Amino acid sequence: MTKVALITGISGQDGAYLAQLLLSKKYKVIGTDRRSARSVNWRLKRLGIENKIIYEEMELGEIYEIQRIFKKYNINEVYNLAAQSFVGTSFSSPLNTANITALGALRILETIRSVNKKIKFYQASSSEMFGDVLEKTQKETTPLNPQSPYAISKVFSHYLTQNYRNSYGMFATSGILFNHESPLRGEEFVTRKIVINLIKYLKKDIDSFELGNIYAKRDWGYAKEYVEAMWKMLQRKKPKDYVIATGRTYSIKEFINISAKYLDMNVVWSGKGLKEKLIDKKNNKVIIKINPKFFRPSEVNILTGNYGKAKKDLSWTPKVNLKQLIKIMIDEEIKYYKK
Ligand code: NDP
Ligand code: GDP
Repeated sequence: MTKVALITGISGQDGAYLAQLLLSKKYKVIGTDRRSARSVNWRLKRLGIENKIIYEEMELGEIYEIQRIFKKYNINEVYNLAAQSFVGTSFSSPLNTANITALGALRILETIRSVNKKIKFYQASSSEMFGDVLEKTQKETTPLNPQSPYAISKVFSHYLTQNYRNSYGMFATSGILFNHESPLRGEEFVTRKIVINLIKYLKKDIDSFELGNIYAKRDWGYAKEYVEAMWKMLQRKKPKDYVIATGRTYSIKEFINISAKYLDMNVVWSGKGLKEKLIDKKNNKVIIKINPKFFRPSEVNILTGNYGKAKKDLSWTPKVNLKQLIKIMIDEEIKYYKK
């Protein structure tokens, strides 16, 4: 029998890759976001799957919209990827972040509980929940120490997912995914911002660009591989939470250096603190400046995941390393580059 999956946040990075994966597995895919069926977006078009999805409007702030969709279809699996997902914005819009990223998950879980408790539920939890880390590498049992309204909202929905599993016997599971990137990543996130702007600089479309804390370190993986882990989690006999990561961590500065090298740029760093700059050795022009505008009121300095449990239970391991990920991102950015 054809399985029916509902993906919230279909217009986002992970929504696109997950839809592609589920379609390849012959699922019927219902994709929801807040802007309705008309919102077929560039990511789904890029993957060539825009006509293969059933679109429904579902604003996560509105429980009646959620109930309507859940009553309309006979859903087997729900992947809750919709969120106000940008940490920076969560400081300027904490109420909206809590309403969508935290309470959105509650609205869906409550709907599942009342409509059909057999529906399997995946919650997009985040490594940001570890925040100011309390263990050197973070696994499922590492205590959480969130540092932003985004991370605190994710902690709420993470614990809530566990609570619905324990209280009502629902198949509710969380993937604690570390940062995952791709050519489909939102432009406000630091990896895509760097890739786009280095290319713009080389094409002479900008003179320079600005970043915040280039000493923060992240465990970056490839989004296309991470959505496979989401699917695998819902195919287990018993619902459990899993960390999905690469186990390797790099600074933003290292990300820039690897990207510049791949782009054949001859660059050097000079100065310290707010005066630190990336210079083009060819012409002495400044390519990157530091602007405190991009500093976070409270920073997460370093994240490193331990994916041992996922490797053991799900046979999931990351294959693409950072150098390969950067190559994938740059090659596709150049291919689709428009001024
Ligand atoms: P994106 O920001 O690319 O996608 C977020 C999606 O949520 C978009 O489709 C967006 O729609 C939708 N959305 C936002 N607000 C609402 C709302 N009020 N009602 C309904 N839909 C809404 O995120 P990613 O694909 O990168 O990430 C997917 C999930 O995984 C998110 O929950 C994110 O927080 C989480 N996560 C991501 C990580 C990463 O590194 N990518 C790491 C760990 C967790 P619209 O297009 O209208 O904005
Ligand atoms: P996050 O881990 O979900 O916050 O993902 P981001 O890609 O938004 O940020 C990763 C890290 O890059 C954070 O520590 C940011 O402080 C740091 N960073 C430095 N400069 C920038 C910038 O200009 N934009 C963003 N988004 N992050 C930046």
